Amino acid sequence: MIPRLKPPIGREEIQALFSFNPDLIEKLERNFSKTFSTRCAAAFPYGRSALWAFFQAMGIKHAEIIQPAYTCSVVGHATVLSGNIPRFVDINLTDYNMDLELFAEAINERTRAVIPTHIFGYPMNVEKVQEIVRDAENRYGHKIYVVQDCAHSFEAEWKGRSVINYGDAALFGLGISKQITSIFGGVMTTNDPEIAEMLSAWRDTHFREKSWLEKWKRRFYLLASAAAFTGFTYGFTYWLQKNTPLLKRLTDAYHLDEAIHFPPDFDHNLSAPEAAVGIEQLNKYKDFKKKRREIARNYFENLSPPKDWVMPPAVEGATYSHFVIRVPDREQVLKSAAERGVQFGQLIEYSMPHLPAYREYAKGGNFPNSLLASRTTINLPLYPSLTAQDQKKILAQTQKFDKM
Ligand SMILES: *Cc1c(COP(=O)(O)O)cnc(C)c1O
Repeated sequence: MIPRLKPPIGREEIQALFSFNPDLIEKLERNFSKTFSTRCAAAFPYGRSALWAFFQAMGIKHAEIIQPAYTCSVVGHATVLSGNIPRFVDINLTDYNMDLELFAEAINERTRAVIPTHIFGYPMNVEKVQEIVRDAENRYGHKIYVVQDCAHSFEAEWKGRSVINYGDAALFGLGISKQITSIFGGVMTTNDPEIAEMLSAWRDTHFREKSWLEKWKRRFYLLASAAAFTGFTYGFTYWLQKNTPLLKRLTDAYHLDEAIHFPPDFDHNLSAPEAAVGIEQLNKYKDFKKKRREIARNYFENLSPPKDWVMPPAVEGATYSHFVIRVPDREQVLKSAAERGVQFGQLIEYSMPHLPAYREYAKGGNFPNSLLASRTTINLPLYPSLTAQDQKKILAQTQKFDKM
């Protein structure tokens, strides 16, 4: 079976697992800055921990934080758990990013930060975002922080310039399903040395080191993931996922959409083996980015989907973390493809303001596009190690739906 995702783990990463030098964490930060051309980078145990720490380091509390209604739930969790209030903005149905008109309307005197998310690797119009925020700052007379959520996009470009360097800071997730991984982990970058200093100082006084056991669990997790997602064993992984609660229990420990919750180790710093894996991945990033774009181009050129499927847009500067298609009957499509040996992915199958835990933040708002995306999107396998033959098989699967 062709898995929906495959962490790009090679021999270098496996060897890196057996690193013990704590200086590697600073090395990861330096290399991250260098790879993405930012002045400063701070490493965290998860992306969500970085965002949570950012709000506190900047003294942002009881404030409204503008964010897309259709995004990873950890963004909402970091907002609420740092004592703030998520203010959701519906998305557009073209590239699934925040609707800029609704974004401008949502800003008010309680807004202290906004989170433009470059979802699925699609760059937002960062210039327009800056303009809207500058207007609002003049109107309300206080600073409004702009934190780019680059967890999907990494180095997407808007008009040829990396989105990472717009705004005040940029957030990255380095979990196993991201474009590059440090097993778990997250990074926040900034070009403002003052923000960098406040953020790392806050982290260093409030976070602690992982225990010996926790570090070994991380190593084991990477080895298990590398094994689980190889073509040979993936049939078994898929079976476990479908027929037993085992894998669900494992992932629920780290991630919950139903409740506003952080894992217990959210403030236990990134460890040396995680940093070492991240360093190896950074070395390969430019190559991964190129390969992802090549595969997306192949899909755009050769896919002839059924008429009622809605294709994603081909966008200059996108990095295609996911190749997202809207389909009328998702369950049926996922099931039929799986039966024929291709697993299509399903990501963010919830709309934040529609989740019970977040309903009180919906404020009577309507988020129809977010709801529709949460119910109808699938994504095609797209990762650097996908062979030409795999891609052919995936393309062939999509054609078979015409006759259904
Ligand atoms: C993965 C992700 C994050 C960060 O997630 P962590 O698991 O906390 O590292 C943030 N935003 C989006 C959109 C993401 O997909």
